[in-house]
Amino acid sequence: MPEFFNVLAPDVAFEALKPMLTPLDDRDVVLTSSALGRVTADYICSPEDLPAFKRSTMDGYSVRSRDTFGASEGLPAYLEVVGEVRMGEAADFRLAVGQAAKAYTGGMLARDADAVVMVERTQMLDETAIEVLRAVAPGENVVQVGEDVRTGDTILEKGSIVRAQDIGGLLAQGVTSITVCRKPRVGIISTGDELVPPDAQVGPGQIRDINTYTISALVEQCGGEPITLALAPDEFEEQRIAALNGLLSCDALVFSAGSSVSSRDLTAEVIDSLGEPGVIAHGISIKPGKPTVMGIVDGKPVFGLPGNPVSAMVVFDLLVRPAIFHLGGCLRIPSLPTIQATLERDIPSVAGREDYIPVSLDQTGECARAMPIFGKSNLIYTLIRSEGIVKVPLDKSGLYAGEAVRVRLY
Ligand code: AMP
Ligand code: MG
Repeated sequence: MPEFFNVLAPDVAFEALKPMLTPLDDRDVVLTSSALGRVTADYICSPEDLPAFKRSTMDGYSVRSRDTFGASEGLPAYLEVVGEVRMGEAADFRLAVGQAAKAYTGGMLARDADAVVMVERTQMLDETAIEVLRAVAPGENVVQVGEDVRTGDTILEKGSIVRAQDIGGLLAQGVTSITVCRKPRVGIISTGDELVPPDAQVGPGQIRDINTYTISALVEQCGGEPITLALAPDEFEEQRIAALNGLLSCDALVFSAGSSVSSRDLTAEVIDSLGEPGVIAHGISIKPGKPTVMGIVDGKPVFGLPGNPVSAMVVFDLLVRPAIFHLGGCLRIPSLPTIQATLERDIPSVAGREDYIPVSLDQTGECARAMPIFGKSNLIYTLIRSEGIVKVPLDKSGLYAGEAVRVRLY
């Protein structure tokens, strides 16, 4: 029986690869409005003060705060209302002592006003007079010029992933396009004599290809561009040619299946034949996912994922995901979201191996409860019926019902 050599601990596997990867140099200029998930290629500075004018944070009256000092319900201040500052317009009048102007949330203050009195703290006497029932301090209920962000402040660091709020902040400043890193192109080669495309009729012993599509979707989620290269049989030369072609246009390659050590498992051999240094590790101490190949060819990462769709997804998150983010210029790889939950059943494992178990979540009570979904690991529906995954750490021989665990959400 052939054996795995160089079995790596899961937490050092990506670290072993990372120093051999060079982030891409190419950049794209994209519209800010469609930059969600892209990685900034430079730091981006604020071109102007935001807000550009003093804005009210309340509906009420802009006032000179001094005119309200000492005002209370028992002894209100009387102010003359001399006008209104409409939304989207500047005040064309000044406030003299004892005067106020109607103000709206987000609107400009009247000239010479330095605070806003909430409408709830006033009493209208007639169209042109109000009582102020509480004093306001200078600056109260006002957003100052540049209080959100100042000219020259860094809005986004280099290597950040653009989020919805970043798009909003950039466009608020009139930054309508930005420079981002090119998306890493990730070529996918699904291997296996038994595979047919999803739109084909399956004959006896055949199955439809799942991994090309789950891996493509995961690549997109990490900001990569998936490129389907081939559905190749378990045949050395055919796989090698598909991979050599892929290396011409792609920044990384992912093989699915054939990553173990039987005579029908060819991806390690194929990866080794593509160039130097070839395979750098074969085998990772996780379940599912032990038969994994990690290689480098001409500075590009090449992965051999196990064919079992659940294993492929687990290993993808562990190795391929951080590699795509790193190639794509991301300087802080986002961690997957997790929640704390109480385990409902024991999960057996063995020390020296990291286990990943899909769980469904009941979030109705105070603390979420995680129910392990046991099943043969080649069942894609164990993932579909679950909401997250629990890791049994390398040094533990299991987790007990009632233990607090971190559930990694999909
Ligand atoms: P292997 O890694 O080649 O030993 O394959 C492990 C299991 O995954 C086998 O049951 C394969 O039939 C299955 N498998 C391999 N490739 C795929 C694929 N692309 N989609 C779905 N299942 C697959
Ligand atoms: Mg196979």
